[in-house]
Amino acid sequence: MQIVGLILALLLILVAFVFIRTFLFIRKASLENGSDLPGVDVPEFHADRDAAAKHLSEVIQIETISHEDPTENVPENFEKLHKLLAKNYPLVYKTLKHEVVGDASLLFTWPGKDLSLDPVLLAAHQDVVPAEGSSLSQWTYPPFSGKIAEGFIWGRGTLDIKSQLVSLLESVEALIANGYQPERTVMLGFGSDEEVMGVGAKAIVALLQKRGVHLAAMVDEGGSVYDGLIPGVKGLTGAIGVAEKGYLSLRVWVDDHAGHSSTPAESTATSTLIRALNRIVDHPYPAKVSMISPMFEKYGAVASPVMQMAFGNLWLFGGVIKKILLKSGETAATIRTTTAVTILRGGVKDNIIPGHAEAVVNFRLLPGDTIAYVCDRLRKVIADDRVQFEPVRGNAWEASPVSPIDCDPYRHLASTAREFFPDLPCAPYIMLGGSDARNYYAICENVYRFSPYSMNDEDLGRVHGVNERLSVEAFGVMVDYFYRLIPRWSQKEL
Ligand SMILES: [Zn+2]
Repeated sequence: MQIVGLILALLLILVAFVFIRTFLFIRKASLENGSDLPGVDVPEFHADRDAAAKHLSEVIQIETISHEDPTENVPENFEKLHKLLAKNYPLVYKTLKHEVVGDASLLFTWPGKDLSLDPVLLAAHQDVVPAEGSSLSQWTYPPFSGKIAEGFIWGRGTLDIKSQLVSLLESVEALIANGYQPERTVMLGFGSDEEVMGVGAKAIVALLQKRGVHLAAMVDEGGSVYDGLIPGVKGLTGAIGVAEKGYLSLRVWVDDHAGHSSTPAESTATSTLIRALNRIVDHPYPAKVSMISPMFEKYGAVASPVMQMAFGNLWLFGGVIKKILLKSGETAATIRTTTAVTILRGGVKDNIIPGHAEAVVNFRLLPGDTIAYVCDRLRKVIADDRVQFEPVRGNAWEASPVSPIDCDPYRHLASTAREFFPDLPCAPYIMLGGSDARNYYAICENVYRFSPYSMNDEDLGRVHGVNERLSVEAFGVMVDYFYRLIPRWSQKEL
């Protein structure tokens, strides 16, 4: 009887402890979300929605496509785009120094009043992915029509990411028109090939590095305002990218005796490769819930009660959370280095055993998991000297560092977002895909990824998909957002 009483008492203490931790977790999140930094006094401005939409539409109509095969690219289209920008943004071209870097990347420099301060840089890319031929008939309006209809601007680049490029220029044009001059130098960097190699952004960074420039902060595409996309959190949430995963493709191969399939040896190139691939797939990289706990710490105030209890008590529920997240490919990718066998090659005839078999395995590396670590572990997992592997040329980069969130550049991004999306809970997140932003860590610690438009599940499918579009109103908000953010970021104190 006494033992039952003791167990009950312990259970009660445990429950009380879990509840107290949950309460503290919610309180901490609410306090943080309420601590907005004040904005900067600039003349009142609201972008003319229709005029701005028309400018974006014109940019969408120029097919600045990045092809996997660079010989298919049309350099004249980039020149056309540059001419259009110069025509639409006369004050920007008059006031800012502008340079074409590399093939077609653009760098604008708006000198600040105090040249001793580190500049800030706002980025986007000029290129878009092609619209796949087989899906063309599914588009409501052709992908490069830039049609403005039903309250939307339609076409490739409206979400990814010409909207950011155009809204940055719109906002700077308006700031100049309103007599604003930045305290700190403001730069705009527009890469020309983000969708393929990102060489343009690398060239911009190399040029700045050569000039000895260190940036106080930079922002590029990446997170945005998500509508119902975070599991366990209802409504709008701001997701600010603070890191992005690394990329590694390994060619894995086996050479062995070729022969007739009627007398196979105990092991062949194909069978050895299959065994190795099975071991690779059966031994995924360790999952780390700690990767996403900062995100849920910030969303704590608005998450569902179950989520609040779970993330407030990771010591108890960490294992369960991990299990749940690993069930879906998308959530699993946020907490582990992923492994995917993407190409298989071997053999040419049904009755010949090939002497060579190979595969390509693609990894997306979590920050903290280096390429060296992934390869070392892979060698141990395969545990077979007959299996060799090497990186596919040009297709590898480390995961980015994780940018800080305890600093003013990050807080200004979130605070500005709350000027347009009241009480928006904002949190750091790790971008699963890649962006030009990763190159900027060479000259900047405060690298962020944020595009201030809201998107739901359906919009997510439109990125690189069919019927990419952005509402005229949402685009106007983007212009207004950068009009407010740029003065915040170019203050003396940052
Ligand atoms: Zn993009």
